[in-house]
Amino acid sequence: MKVLKFGGTSVGSVENMQHVKGIITDGTKKIVVLSAMSGTTNTLVSIASAILNEIPNQAIDTINKLHESYFATIDELLVDNSLNSDTKTYVTEIFNFLLEATYSEYSKTLENKILAQGELLSTYMFNAYLKQEGIRSELLPALDFMRINNAKEPDLAYIKKEFKSTFDATPESDIYITQGFICLDDNGAVSNLQRGGSDYTATIIGAVINAEEVQIWTDIDGMHNNDPRYVENTHPISNLSFDEAAELAYFGAKILHPQTVLPVREDGIPVRLKNTMDPEAYGTLISSDTSENGIKAIAAKDNIIAIKIKSGRMLQAHGFLKKVFEVFETYGTSIDMITTSEVAVSLTIDDDRNLDKIVAELEQFASIEVDKDQTIVCLVGHSIVNHESTYKLFQILQDVKIRMISYGGSRNNISLLINSNDKVTTLNKLNDYLFELVTL
Ligand code: ASP
Ligand code: MG
Repeated sequence: MKVLKFGGTSVGSVENMQHVKGIITDGTKKIVVLSAMSGTTNTLVSIASAILNEIPNQAIDTINKLHESYFATIDELLVDNSLNSDTKTYVTEIFNFLLEATYSEYSKTLENKILAQGELLSTYMFNAYLKQEGIRSELLPALDFMRINNAKEPDLAYIKKEFKSTFDATPESDIYITQGFICLDDNGAVSNLQRGGSDYTATIIGAVINAEEVQIWTDIDGMHNNDPRYVENTHPISNLSFDEAAELAYFGAKILHPQTVLPVREDGIPVRLKNTMDPEAYGTLISSDTSENGIKAIAAKDNIIAIKIKSGRMLQAHGFLKKVFEVFETYGTSIDMITTSEVAVSLTIDDDRNLDKIVAELEQFASIEVDKDQTIVCLVGHSIVNHESTYKLFQILQDVKIRMISYGGSRNNISLLINSNDKVTTLNKLNDYLFELVTL
């Protein structure tokens, strides 16, 4: 069986839901994972923060507007009277829960419950729509099987067992619909797989059922070889290996949740990225195939902070890096890039929440320089470190000030740290020389 995930835009309007129906009704049984309608999760986040900030009137206003917009969508989507009124009853229960929440005291659990409503709404509505169209469809409630452990990782053994029993208890159908993103935590409280987590839901299910393929349907035609917001003439990458996709997902190629490929990589279950608005387009196929060498993609990640840690005592002293790392560990801040010389070490972080405390602790044994507004530009490709164009990098970027470079951390990635002001120039220069084959 295949697992197909449709993102917020794909279920964001009645017209797009009709497209989705066309894509999934090809006569084969499948599991369909849905996100919330686009914009809904952001609105739910704003409701939760209005509760946190004790401005209930603002929350109530937002809830009422959202309720109205859902009723309008239902009237357009469901012309069948009984499905229309049944769906409105369900939706009203959800909005009543949200209204009640505005009288409650804020807690993280309350916030997670609020955030979970988007996927409950979209799946219920879409299931009703399929029934109206005479398609055999059933809901598989994600909260019956999806669960994370105390390290916030999916509890695969539990999910496998519970998914099977949920599935076995469900009437035979052609389409099985479930909610992306939402899950229970190790205490059984409602939680989620972080923003964008519906992709992750799809590959987790793909892994536990040993799916034939996982498809992620979005509003763009696959993973692009450069950032289309800053560079013209980018094109979708047809094939990526799991490792390449994992590197790109982390480095800002926002189209995939960073953990997406992890669950399916070991079993080699292919992940195909497809465009709901252009189903004929090939998209991107992520698989175990690593036969294509060379530079495949360039991606950039902004809001990086570089920290230079310099100490005379580092010279030939062992244990220095351990001391440095311990400071970051204490504040739960992960380090992305790192380079060292005999007298200093430079590293980057993307989480500035504890920056002041980290710097204060480091200053006890070293002198510190902090540079904000940095961007990591990363080049990804199988065995990229051995590729001939790689040697031209310094020449191509001779006018750009490179603050750090990371080469050889893996064979599939070279990362450069630059000032964010130089990002657009850097992405374009790399594009021209590496993909457009302008010769030096
Ligand atoms: N609805 C969730 C979000 O907006 C999950 C997802 O769309 O993947 O983050
Ligand atoms: Mg997404």
